[in-house]
Amino acid sequence: MAIRHWRVKDRYYRLIGSRCTECGAECFPPVYRCRKCGSEKIEDREMPQSGKIVTYTQLHEPLPGFEAQAPFYLAVVELDNGAKMLTQLVDSTDESVKTGAKVVATVRRARVDGDSGQITYGYKFRVT
Ligand SMILES: [Zn+2]
Repeated sequence: MAIRHWRVKDRYYRLIGSRCTECGAECFPPVYRCRKCGSEKIEDREMPQSGKIVTYTQLHEPLPGFEAQAPFYLAVVELDNGAKMLTQLVDSTDESVKTGAKVVATVRRARVDGDSGQITYGYKFRVT
C-alpha cells in the first residue's frame, strides 16, 4: 500500500487526470478509455484546483482508518473543466457547505499507517 502510494503520488498531489485527444473530454481519476467517445487516445492532464459542490453528505461512521476525522463532509465536486470527483471537504463550516458552493483543492493528511506510522497525504477541498 505505502509503496504503491509512493509510485502514484503525483496523481494525488497534483490532481493528474486524463484528457481525450479525440474529443477533448477531461476526467478524474485517470482512465484508459474516454468516457464520452470511447477513444483510447488519452493523455495525462493536470486538473484545475477549483470547482463547485454538486452534492454532498456528512459521514458519521466513516471507513476504517478515518474514524478520528468523523464527522466530515464527503462531496461530489465538479471541477472548472467539467470533470467530477468524489472528495472530502475540510475547513468548511456547516453553513458554507451547500450545493453550488465554490471550492478549492488543498493537500492534507489523509491517513496514518498503523504499523509503520507513515503519514499519507492527499488532496481534499475546502469551501472558499
Ligand atoms: Zn473522447
